[in-house]
Amino acid sequence: AETTEKPVFNNLNPEQFSAVQNNEGPSLIIAGPGTGKTKTLTSKIAWLVGNHKAEPEEILAITFTNKAAGELRERLEVLLKNKTKASQVTVATFHAFGLSVLKEYHTEFSRSEDFILADEGLKLEIIKSFSELKSGEAKKLSAEISEIKNGTKPETSSFTKYEKELQKLDAFDLDDLIAKPLLLFNKNEKAKAVYQKRFRYIFVDEYQDTNDAQYRLLRQLAPDPSSNLCVVGDANQSIYGFRGANAGYIQRFTDDYPGAKVFRLKQSYRCSQTILSASSDVLSQSSGFLQGLTEGVQVSVSEQPTGAAEAEFIARQIVELVGGVSFFSIDSSVTRGEKNEGISSLSDLAVLCRTRNQFEAIAKALNDHHIPYQDVGTVPFFREEPFQSFVDLLSVFLSGNFEKAAPVFNLKKRAFSKLQFEMAKEETKKLDAVSFLNYLKDSFFAGQKFDNQNWERFTGMAGNMQNWGEFLNYVKLGSGADIHRKNLEAVSLMTLHASKGLEFECVFIPGCEKGLLPYNLYKTEVDEEEEKRLLYVGMTRAKKLLYLTHARSRTLRGRKFNLPKSPFLGSIQQELIQQIKNKPHKKPEEKDNQLSLF
Ligand code: ATP
Ligand code: MG
Repeated sequence: AETTEKPVFNNLNPEQFSAVQNNEGPSLIIAGPGTGKTKTLTSKIAWLVGNHKAEPEEILAITFTNKAAGELRERLEVLLKNKTKASQVTVATFHAFGLSVLKEYHTEFSRSEDFILADEGLKLEIIKSFSELKSGEAKKLSAEISEIKNGTKPETSSFTKYEKELQKLDAFDLDDLIAKPLLLFNKNEKAKAVYQKRFRYIFVDEYQDTNDAQYRLLRQLAPDPSSNLCVVGDANQSIYGFRGANAGYIQRFTDDYPGAKVFRLKQSYRCSQTILSASSDVLSQSSGFLQGLTEGVQVSVSEQPTGAAEAEFIARQIVELVGGVSFFSIDSSVTRGEKNEGISSLSDLAVLCRTRNQFEAIAKALNDHHIPYQDVGTVPFFREEPFQSFVDLLSVFLSGNFEKAAPVFNLKKRAFSKLQFEMAKEETKKLDAVSFLNYLKDSFFAGQKFDNQNWERFTGMAGNMQNWGEFLNYVKLGSGADIHRKNLEAVSLMTLHASKGLEFECVFIPGCEKGLLPYNLYKTEVDEEEEKRLLYVGMTRAKKLLYLTHARSRTLRGRKFNLPKSPFLGSIQQELIQQIKNKPHKKPEEKDNQLSLF
């Protein structure tokens, strides 16, 4: 039931509570992993709304992924005990926020209200349609166009042509979601004033990963030195430098906002002291500014002969931890492993890899042991083929803009006329979302193999959306992290990048080798410090148990590598580490009801 009760904040420590009460003027919360930064940010919003200090519509909260935005809104709902109010707070990623600005001001850019979003695939098609460039060259031009939009390169004639084509298609590309609102606020004082007035309180989580364009957008929204802007971050967790993120903005915050209050949190509620110390060693920093809840057990390190053996080791550890049980059994009376540190569910476990190429070996071992897992890559399944092409077709179909869009989408003439013909049919219009998607699939993708489970998730997602536009935008702006399901009875398999902000009882990090961590197998330039921070982020996802493994040889993308142990492991104090050797094992029992969830 909806209430007007004040929310209670009795589960915050004094430092957190002090930050929660301080919302007037600029502020910066800098603190290490698991200290409750995200929790504090959420509580601040609940405090403002619950104590009637701000209307929910006056609050903008920027998160790093759509999933984080969803979780923040859910937490707000619980704190405020009011679903309506929680939903009135604007919680979005920078991109989703930019999209909402363009929805409101589309006429400024000669687009219709129903403009489409051009993702990387469509962007390349557009480039090819006017330049006759081949794939590789088109990709280069695409990257250049991004740089121009981000303000780091001057405009070229190709750029102008591209912009014209984009407008003809009634489309914006993904860079436009930040670049065009910036442009709008630069040239249209009135529009800028609307937004500055609308959002009296602005919050940004994961501020260390803000890039230049996003920073400039934020400055437009909160230009005043006394703005109620609160940013939350940890410079040690900055892992998107390769995408132009700049942790320097944390340092710069107190220059831009000289009166800013700075809050530091010391107590980590996530990691054991051992895990905090070991991960600080990787950064060659003291962990003195961070305090764990418990001492914790040693970090396990294991050397394996091959990548396959490493994967097998991980699968066996998982069986040992969670118990050699049938994972498909709904019977809760099954016996769990003994030395499992209270780990009772597969959702407590994650395997975090530096690259997606490592997933294959891990997935095989998990399958061999009948361990369900969810594959959370950096790219979600719906942005890979054949889903990608399907989404392209769906955009054309829904845009109603066939004549203009069809050639760019490379739709064959015959299929295209069939589409228009079918469109006219009365029964097509009456189909609900799920049957409509099935109908499109049967009509145009008859020969293509869609993974059944993924197809079900895809249609399920569509069924849950308010309208088609929302669905398409979700799919185009989605990241791998968005498809992660927290309470699924499955091990999470994801990249280190995708693990940001998450936590698990037990974390495995395979591939702790020079070449993977730091990663330089296919390139010569590597930012060693950023690679250390990436390992730091991965290690600090673990609450109780942490396994770091490395293999003497492994095959990646069909090539064999012999890589030495990662130099980062060498900086961890020996007494924090327990070396684990392989034990002889029984072969896993054969089962035929093998299930891979993804
Ligand atoms: P990261 O740097 O990884 O983003 P964070 O600083 O945002 O971490 P949170 O995710 O907000 O940390 O919190 C980490 C964990 O600690 C969560 O499970 C959260 O519920 C818990 N936590 C935070 N503050 C408290 C508290 N005062 N009492 C109990 N648990 C807390
Ligand atoms: Mg956080």
